[in-house]
Amino acid sequence: MIKQAKQVLKQTFGYDKFRPLQENVISNVLNKKDSLVIMPTGGGKSLCYQIPALLFDGLTIVISPLISLMKDQVEQLDEFGVPALFLNSTLTPEQYAANVQKLKNGEAKLLYLAPETLMMQSTRELLNQLKVDCFTIDEAHCISEWGHDFRPEYRQLATVRKDFPDAVCLALTATATPRVREDIRKTLEMNETETYVASFDRKNLLLQVVDKQEPLEQILDFLYTRPKQSGIIYCFSRRQVNELYSDLKHEGHSVLPYHAGLSEMQRTRNQEAFIRDDVQIIVATVAFGMGINKPDVRFVVHHDMPQNIESYYQQIGRAGRDGLQADCMLLYSYSDKQKIQYFINQKEGEEKKVAEKHLDALLNFLEFDDCRRKPLLEYFGEEYPHDECGMCDNCLKYKDNMQDYTEQAQKYMSCIARTDERFGAYYIADILRGSKQKKIKENKHDELSTYGIGREWTKNQWIQLSRLLLRSDYLGKDPEYGSLKLTKNSRAVLDGKERVEGILDRTQAATDEGQTSRTSSDVENKHNADLFEELRKKRKELADEQEIPPYAIFPDTTLMEMSYYFPQDDESLMAIYGVGSVKLKRYGEEFLPIIREFTANHDVDEKSKAIKKKVQETAEKKKHELVGEEFNEGKSVDHLAEQFGVKSVTILSNLKKYLDEGNKLNPEGILEASSLSQRKIDEVYESMDKVGADILKLVYEDLNKTVDYSELRVIQLAYLAENASS
Ligand code: ADP
Ligand code: ZN
Repeated sequence: MIKQAKQVLKQTFGYDKFRPLQENVISNVLNKKDSLVIMPTGGGKSLCYQIPALLFDGLTIVISPLISLMKDQVEQLDEFGVPALFLNSTLTPEQYAANVQKLKNGEAKLLYLAPETLMMQSTRELLNQLKVDCFTIDEAHCISEWGHDFRPEYRQLATVRKDFPDAVCLALTATATPRVREDIRKTLEMNETETYVASFDRKNLLLQVVDKQEPLEQILDFLYTRPKQSGIIYCFSRRQVNELYSDLKHEGHSVLPYHAGLSEMQRTRNQEAFIRDDVQIIVATVAFGMGINKPDVRFVVHHDMPQNIESYYQQIGRAGRDGLQADCMLLYSYSDKQKIQYFINQKEGEEKKVAEKHLDALLNFLEFDDCRRKPLLEYFGEEYPHDECGMCDNCLKYKDNMQDYTEQAQKYMSCIARTDERFGAYYIADILRGSKQKKIKENKHDELSTYGIGREWTKNQWIQLSRLLLRSDYLGKDPEYGSLKLTKNSRAVLDGKERVEGILDRTQAATDEGQTSRTSSDVENKHNADLFEELRKKRKELADEQEIPPYAIFPDTTLMEMSYYFPQDDESLMAIYGVGSVKLKRYGEEFLPIIREFTANHDVDEKSKAIKKKVQETAEKKKHELVGEEFNEGKSVDHLAEQFGVKSVTILSNLKKYLDEGNKLNPEGILEASSLSQRKIDEVYESMDKVGADILKLVYEDLNKTVDYSELRVIQLAYLAENASS
């Protein structure tokens, strides 16, 4: 089943891989197991029910509290060629009747409903005649009185749910507090419940807290470098919204206001204008945002302090759902803090205590001088696993400061000298870090006085230092062999006559540690901006014709990939992010001619190699997934080796890769591939408990070299699989 799910992912939605947890959730749902999914905004909750919906025979019901979101979702699904519809009070009687008929004819896979529509007798009678396979509750926190958005109608969902005993129940929310979570589970009486909690770290959001001095000037500066981008500016009060709105308008910005003081119609119109890219900026109170699904919001600015961390997180969460970088700037001043303090002082008892706690947590975040992701994620019960994120003002601050690297430069240079200027940057870094690799031993470089004197830095930092030294002529490089050479300038540094100062790119270091965003940064940073603009124009034109938002046609990422890879035909276009078979048919001939003309006029070619590689990577990836899946279905390692025509060791490494990606493997099945006795296996397990399972050399030595590597590899995999599943 999950294989089919992957096909749907690419064929229908045009995406290459699942995001974290999507695969597990989808597979669970397909097995008809109830699931509760907690994922931050933009995490990709929708696919968790949309893909199963396409694979189930029957209907998937989606309960959603926001009528505006329903329309948006159905429009987007329509663009993917997915048959979906909604029933709510905005439909005319004719439209309503037509949708009911379609449901009866089995012409829809997904049905979006507001809870009050679901509760109506006529709806329940209708649904009783249909086969319902999945009962999805979006924004499930609305069930809980502890949540920030309690809706009494949601309470009754538990009863209605019983109307569909054969349907699997899937509840989704972006609210993380354990109390709400428990409440959802209890209310829905979920059996065999599995709860999936994704990380709340939104890596692509750049977080900034700035001293609020002249807010209008500061915001104008901010907007100056972001022309043509969509963004939201939050203000504390309606008055402030109106004021800032007219100031920005006066300065020539494309902007509209949004707050509860405007008429319903005006609000809808302004929101619609934002979604359709008719206006770029919305200045708003907290009233704005719930019904917004726009994936390409590039910035969220807080003109005033938010009420608490939870609402701050929710508001910035509306930026960058597409995974591309988005900037979040908060203007913070002492008088704002006093204002909030004043409101809190009006309260009493428990309420006041809670409010004070919220304020403390918020202030802790605002006044933090280390990586901001630490207090932010800690608030949601998550520990940030890195020292710095490279995507917050505090982490980037260091980057702007010139640092003195003389001491490290001296270490690096003397290591080059002692190895007779015969080696490259990576090798030198390895010696400094005391690496135990064979080549170093063979060369007897582990006997050098510089061996292991640079453990305080990561390899990446040493490499970056080498780049810095090369850039500033403190080092030279042999053009043919890439070995590093000392220069006149190096001598001065080694003799202590000159100091080395510079900036190491710390953002880069963070990326190297695997924190890459979904699109490769090259696509994001190096796509052709002119072509991108042309494609955007075309997209807007097509969207206006159909009266849908531009992102429903293609997200920005798709247009960026087009203006990076320059695909020339259907086949190449199909490899682009977000292009599935229906969109290819619908829009291929709209966009391809523009790309072709551009490449012809600008003398650039399709990056066909890169596109092929992209296709191939997906294909390659499939192999180890295939192996993993078939293994879990009960095939032995030997059987698989035969089937795929490779050695067992290759199958093992496929399985390892599969496991490393967070999938489960059946450990018993792996041990079958071992020829060791149970006693010996237990011994290896004990050793792995002691020295760890990651570095086999340690285990090998711990066991006095009595078990060879090929055996160790088998047991390592079983050991890791067992730990992963426990
Ligand atoms: P949420 O409901 O959790 O806020 P969405 O379901 O709206 O998130 O997804 C956010 C964006 O990410 C959407 O534009 C969606 O199409 C995209 N997306 C979801 N899953 C994937 C995936 N596996 N690969 C690429 N893009 C994805
Ligand atoms: Zn940080």
